[in-house]
Amino acid sequence: MKEETLIHIITHPKCLEHSGGPGHPESPERIGAIMTMLNAAPWKDRLTWHEAPEATGEQLERVHSSLYIEMIRSSSEAGGRQLDPDTATNHASWEAALRAAGAAVLACELAIDRGEGAFAAVRPPGHHALAGRAMGFCLFSNVVVAVREMLERPEAGQILIVDWDVHHGNGTQALVEDDPRIRFISLHQWPHYPGTGAEEERGVGNVWNLPRPPGLAPEQYRDDLLAAIGEATSDWVPDLVVVSAGFDSMAGDPLAGFTLREEDYAAITAELLSFGKPLAGVLEGGYSLENLRSGVAAFLEALS
Ligand SMILES: [Zn+2]
Repeated sequence: MKEETLIHIITHPKCLEHSGGPGHPESPERIGAIMTMLNAAPWKDRLTWHEAPEATGEQLERVHSSLYIEMIRSSSEAGGRQLDPDTATNHASWEAALRAAGAAVLACELAIDRGEGAFAAVRPPGHHALAGRAMGFCLFSNVVVAVREMLERPEAGQILIVDWDVHHGNGTQALVEDDPRIRFISLHQWPHYPGTGAEEERGVGNVWNLPRPPGLAPEQYRDDLLAAIGEATSDWVPDLVVVSAGFDSMAGDPLAGFTLREEDYAAITAELLSFGKPLAGVLEGGYSLENLRSGVAAFLEALS
């Protein structure tokens, strides 16, 4: 007897070949750790695996300039280049970035079409990428590429993006802050990289920023995010929820000082599922391999 699907996992081997350089914290091992966890999970038989497709030129060009897209392609095809102090391409980055954005699109499609949870376990991450600039380990805005594709469909007229990565999703914000069809909530350490994400940054009233100091009790981060979700959805119900799922907001991350635990991601996910709408997750940061394993597991268990 075949049990029902628990969750759709979208990934690609190219995501393990992209590298920002030796010793870079955004390492291929991050995806390896998640794959090891998934293959050993007690619910592994209820995962449905999908190879990430490449995002199309049309999908990318809704979000990024063609000049920028071409720069990413040519830098990768030339073997790689340093794009900013934190962000570089190598020979595999072009395809990995196309597959990462395509995975986010497919995760949203699966969530909408099948009504089941979907998670894009991919890298490079995306929430710092701007329309014409790579930064913070990010090349393409995976989540916004997916959200703009979904907005082409009549059944997804309003989309909520929740970014619990410990860094402000500055790229996502810049790319959606003038579009009232999208609401964006970001919980992030402040002051911290990238320096944006003040509470006063409200877009067209569709942006909720929660800048917080490090070291608070986990319940406080969690409850503040739950309150913002409540506020953002009190007069507006999303047709689709997309989580920019960074696990560098978990206690013990080497790059940051938040204190979230597995049960907090589970509680936030449960709240997001209470809309009864499709939910897709897209991996962002998270630099402790142990946290990636347990944080992703908690998220997926809640999402099921
Ligand atoms: Zn981050």
